[in-house]
Amino acid sequence: MIFYSDMHIHTPASVCCSSDTQIPDNIIPLLARKGYKKIGFIDHVWDSKDVPPSDFYVTQDGKKHLELHKFIHSREWEIEVWVGCEADMKAPGVFGITHELKEKLDYVAMATNHFHLKDFVEQPADSTPRALAQHMLKFFISAAESGLPDLLVHPFYPYGNIDIYDDTISCLSDTELIDAFSVAASNNIAIEINKCYLPQLRPERLFSIETPLRILTLAKQAGCKFSLGSDAHSLETFVVLDQLQNLAKTLNITKADIHPIAQIR
Ligand SMILES: [Zn+2]
Ligand SMILES: [Zn+2]
Repeated sequence: MIFYSDMHIHTPASVCCSSDTQIPDNIIPLLARKGYKKIGFIDHVWDSKDVPPSDFYVTQDGKKHLELHKFIHSREWEIEVWVGCEADMKAPGVFGITHELKEKLDYVAMATNHFHLKDFVEQPADSTPRALAQHMLKFFISAAESGLPDLLVHPFYPYGNIDIYDDTISCLSDTELIDAFSVAASNNIAIEINKCYLPQLRPERLFSIETPLRILTLAKQAGCKFSLGSDAHSLETFVVLDQLQNLAKTLNITKADIHPIAQIR
């Protein structure tokens, strides 16, 4: 194993997680048995004084995150457990996380590409890979510059547009990607190796493994440090962890490339 942590786990506090067995009392022993020493819960959140939530986010306002944070830190667990959130952005510069909530949680993860939330997240100017590529780049740089996230989850994975994933990424030059990742590296923000990068999990919409490999290789070249994330919404999802460890191996990730949030004590 390269990573001994999975810092991207959802619970039923995320409305897209409908598995009622996906709770800390089941997850923690399961991951401990697999040899993991640290995990992190990051349920979806929209917390903003200026921008009201969409229907999807209306019940995901941070209250359940604070309850889970309190619960987790009121008990002893066999492994280290952190509680954060998966914050979102509506557009470059428009973030769904306040400094007040950030301070009360262990860490903040941010998604820069939830373009499947079409009624909420700003859409590219047109449906071409080029427009999507530039749009996604702006979101990423804005989040990396914001000082809000500790972790950028599933970077450069265009949710809602996976059919043009390969073409979209090929519109971005190495320099554009390295420059963007350099912003994250200089702000000490972790980059995630997420299960979305495993093409075999999406037989209906195949993409080439070369696409995520290129992105993550350039992130490494830019000096980024990494975190591993199953993005599990059910107990069955944790089987992807072995494949993610293999992906990390392919990327030649070593201990020195692991971001502090993903490091074990
Ligand atoms: Zn996400
Ligand atoms: Zn997630």
